[in-house]
Amino acid sequence: MKLQVIVLGAGFGGLELSTILSEALADRLDLTLIDKNDSFVFGYSKLDVMFGRKTLDAVRLAYRNIVKPGVHFRQEAITAIDPEARRVTTDSGTYDADVLVVALGADYDLDATPGLTDGGNQFYSVAGAERLREVLPTFSKGRAIVGVTSTPFKCPPAPSEVALLLHDHLTARGVRDACEISLVMPFGAPIPPSPASSRALLAAFAERGITFVPNRLVRALDPERRVAILDDESEMPYDLFLGVPKHCVPGVVAASGMTVDGWIPVNPKNLKTRFPGVYAVGDVTSVGTPKAGVFSEGAARVVAAALIAELHGGEQPPAYNGAGSCYIEFGVGRVGRVDVDFLSGPSPTGSFIESSVALVGEKQHFGSSRRARWFGL
Ligand SMILES: Cc1cc2nc3c(=O)[nH]c(=O)nc-3n(C[C@H](O)[C@H](O)[C@H](O)COP(=O)(O)OP(=O)(O)OC[C@H]3O[C@@H](n4cnc5c(N)ncnc54)[C@H](O)[C@@H]3O)c2cc1C
Repeated sequence: MKLQVIVLGAGFGGLELSTILSEALADRLDLTLIDKNDSFVFGYSKLDVMFGRKTLDAVRLAYRNIVKPGVHFRQEAITAIDPEARRVTTDSGTYDADVLVVALGADYDLDATPGLTDGGNQFYSVAGAERLREVLPTFSKGRAIVGVTSTPFKCPPAPSEVALLLHDHLTARGVRDACEISLVMPFGAPIPPSPASSRALLAAFAERGITFVPNRLVRALDPERRVAILDDESEMPYDLFLGVPKHCVPGVVAASGMTVDGWIPVNPKNLKTRFPGVYAVGDVTSVGTPKAGVFSEGAARVVAAALIAELHGGEQPPAYNGAGSCYIEFGVGRVGRVDVDFLSGPSPTGSFIESSVALVGEKQHFGSSRRARWFGL
């Protein structure tokens, strides 16, 4: 008997889960991995694309490269999920499984922020990053705002990274003195669980003349007056707005009846949903970790270990600890690292490794090791 698994979404969570199950079970596995796209793009590659450091073609990893025993990739759009029946409908057919894993990530609701589409930019989607690649070279003087519009949002260090990389971009073009950069963040510090990372980022902002606006969200843009309106109704003039849009579950997840308060609740120890045989991992859940690839991956590992243990009659794995490392671009060719643990203790903890050139290599290895494991490249 083969284990019938359907994995919805081939992002960090879905790719890691499929890889581990294939390695461990091979001919005892019948896994269908479904994604609407033809390729995967690391979240951080959007920074490379928007600042013109890499082309989109150079950072796309085609799903056709997935060749793993027991795994079949299907490029199809999922149109319905019935978690009671463990049945999934796509634009091409219907699938039933013993085990269903929802790893569909977070989508964006651009219309939730009035003025964002007409009067601003966002760097969280591939399309947004591609557009900014054209827009950034045209910005040579005035006020730039990097602003978060809503919580939760993916990769909490990303807005800080963009402010620092924008500084480098403008400096390289010789126009930095004619520009101002402000960063609007909903937290009191750039990375709340790691005071050392926050201190390092605040020092980097101060050195570069970047204004940090804490504890605020951008509620709307008024493109005519070119002002950003914050959640306390104060206003900030802007000439260039780089936004983090409101996040939400994909429409098909919202329609499935699996969400509570906008996200899929799971048991944080084992990622089980309230539906038997149905798990959810990564950004689509409200598990209690930030929305970042490393956490989606870690959750996927726990689900994989539990399924393997069940099939082999072995012991269940230890509870998910919500731990992971995130690399932070500091600009000027340096990367820092924050190691955070969200679920082992009573409150989140984090430690920081100072930015260095050596960590640039470590971040590259993070990407290349996954390219090799997931795509055989
Ligand atoms: C600018 C930026 C920088 C980032 N930097 C980092 C970083 O340095 N480190 C880090 O760990 N994380 C980073 N992230 C966050 C990271 O990209 C996400 O948290 C991660 O991708 C989440 O993984 P996931 O598996 O939960 O979902 P995803 O990787 O988003 O995968 C979900 C998949 O589901 C598919 N899907 C959705 N709806 C449907 C449907 N109806 N039918 C079929 N398929 C569908 C999507 O196409 C997608 O491939 C960054 C994000 C951004 C935006």
